[in-house]
Amino acid sequence: MALDLSHRRNDIAAIAIDPERLLGDMRRLAEFGKVGSGVHRRALSAIDVEARQWLLGRMREAGLEASIDGIGNVVGRTPHARRIVIGSHTDTVPNGGWLDGAMGVIYALEIARAFMAGGGEGEIGLEIVSFCDEEGSFTALLGSQAYVGELDAVSARALANEHGQTLDQAVTDAGLTDAPLARFDPAVHAAFLEAHIEQGPVLEAKGLQIGVVSAIVGVRGWKIRFEGRADHAGTTPMAMRADAGAALCDFAVRFAAFCKANGSAHTVWNGGAITLTPGAHNVVPALAEYILSFRDPSATLLDTLADAVTRISTEVAAEHGVTAHADAIFALAPARMDADLVGILDEAARGHGVKPLPMPSGAGHDAMVMARHMPTGMLFVPSINGRSHDLSEDTDDDDIVLGARVLADAVTVLRQRL
Ligand SMILES: [Zn+2]
Repeated sequence: MALDLSHRRNDIAAIAIDPERLLGDMRRLAEFGKVGSGVHRRALSAIDVEARQWLLGRMREAGLEASIDGIGNVVGRTPHARRIVIGSHTDTVPNGGWLDGAMGVIYALEIARAFMAGGGEGEIGLEIVSFCDEEGSFTALLGSQAYVGELDAVSARALANEHGQTLDQAVTDAGLTDAPLARFDPAVHAAFLEAHIEQGPVLEAKGLQIGVVSAIVGVRGWKIRFEGRADHAGTTPMAMRADAGAALCDFAVRFAAFCKANGSAHTVWNGGAITLTPGAHNVVPALAEYILSFRDPSATLLDTLADAVTRISTEVAAEHGVTAHADAIFALAPARMDADLVGILDEAARGHGVKPLPMPSGAGHDAMVMARHMPTGMLFVPSINGRSHDLSEDTDDDDIVLGARVLADAVTVLRQRL
């Protein structure tokens, strides 16, 4: 799946984006589902479909052949037989921010628009996409999975959203029942590029404007259950208890210490839920359940941490006279970004006089799906105060414009060399 970058098409002109038009369209898109300074635009809700129709119109005005496919993906194409795919998503989490996904889609629109305005010449064209339901109203990464053929669009239609509406009903309501699916074709689609806000505080803390994603981290989820015995909390001597809660606490502390000692600089972990049963101050916990997840860009390291979950839970259970059951409940594999695209994005940033930060993405993105099928690269711009998935999400206009210019330059280099 490596890129052949042997061409040197030196007559390919740079793509000059228009910052006012870019910011204007981003603000216009944010009007659909506006809530205060943020946006509530769940996938295939009435307002989301309105936003998709607006985007479709903008793509057509730009001179693209555009359509909304049978699962809600909005796709615009230049007439070229080989194309670079650029995109992200325009649906949001409940009461989300105005940039998460939307920024990357409007970057793609502006780059395609500027490219077509400049004549749209050359062998390599563009395909721009707003993937449907990245945020998982029906299921996470729905549109990108359908695009690459990982998801069976027919059985997916039984999936329901938080209001109990099926995808089938939502697609019907959106008038997309007979729309064909847009599909990835390795003979046509050369590479995928996604720009996104960082959604974390790292770039801002380092005073940097551009992050180049090296990998999207993998995630493992575990449920660890300790079974002891309920006893009177006043009359049972400490040495004679089978305290499931105490075992859980020991486990949590020791697993965290193991992660600190053996994890990478990018390892994160989260004990997100604890349940103690029966759950009273005067009863020794008979059952204790811990929901744990951890993330890292390295699959090997994720395996090491998974082994530690099993080993440490067995050890603490023996010490506390309880039993332990550790069950893996989900696993998402890490996605490596293409090394050539990392290099091209890095150079494009340097071309604007800024030092890019190579960094993993701690959040999932459509790019992690695309990376399994074509060479994929990803660019980050800073999030003010690291805030995201919240109405307060924002990025400086200067950073937004710079990100678009860097992405446009990376597209130009690819068009010269592919
Ligand atoms: Zn997103």
